[in-house]
Amino acid sequence: MENTGHFFVFEGIDGSGKSTQIRLLKEKIEELGVRCMETKEPTDGPIGSLVHQCMTGRTSADEYSIAALFAADRLDHLLNESDGLCGKIQDGITVLSDRFIFSTYAYQSVNIPLEWLIQMNSQATEILRPDCHIFIDVDPEVAMERITAGRFHTERYETTEQLTKVRSRYYQLFDRFQGQESVLIVDGNQSVDDIAKDIWQYVAPFYDIAETR
Ligand code: ADP
Repeated sequence: MENTGHFFVFEGIDGSGKSTQIRLLKEKIEELGVRCMETKEPTDGPIGSLVHQCMTGRTSADEYSIAALFAADRLDHLLNESDGLCGKIQDGITVLSDRFIFSTYAYQSVNIPLEWLIQMNSQATEILRPDCHIFIDVDPEVAMERITAGRFHTERYETTEQLTKVRSRYYQLFDRFQGQESVLIVDGNQSVDDIAKDIWQYVAPFYDIAETR
């Protein structure tokens, strides 16, 4: 009997509303009586903490080393014996992740050849393929306004120019991975509720409510 959890990944530039929508989707899924957890990359684990240090400039490392750390953090995120996502999904828990492989490709291919990044992450992509990558597409200027108005400290990638470049890379990637990865593009310039409705319309059919109760 198949009773594994689903894996939905949220992608988008910073300030696009990923964490807002993850919180709302988690509530909707739990209302169905389905166990659901949220997570993010880079993680708060030991390898993810190193990545955070590099991103905030507290530790310096070359771009390839940082990309390798991202890949190692991802493998640990999936496979860690105590709280790895593969185990959670096998236990029937739906996982919502703020960022996954497309973030690596979109952000890091600014400095590193995409093929190298794909190769470095090939193990992770073989281990666990998301049911869907949900891309919240927002105008970079709108995202920047949200970032500067909100709680955010500015990280390395957060300028309108950078966000614009990253957004266009996401689109190049969706073209390239068409047929391989399932991608839902949602208009992130809408209200929080309208975005949530678009996402729920897509996600709800993954759950047969009669089976999950
Ligand atoms: P991300 O996780 O993608 O960086 P957040 O969900 O943290 O984005 O949202 C960034 C900021 O924008 C937060 O202050 C949030 O309240 C606000 N926000 C999120 N979605 C919307 C929206 N659809 N319209 C207006 N503001 C939003």
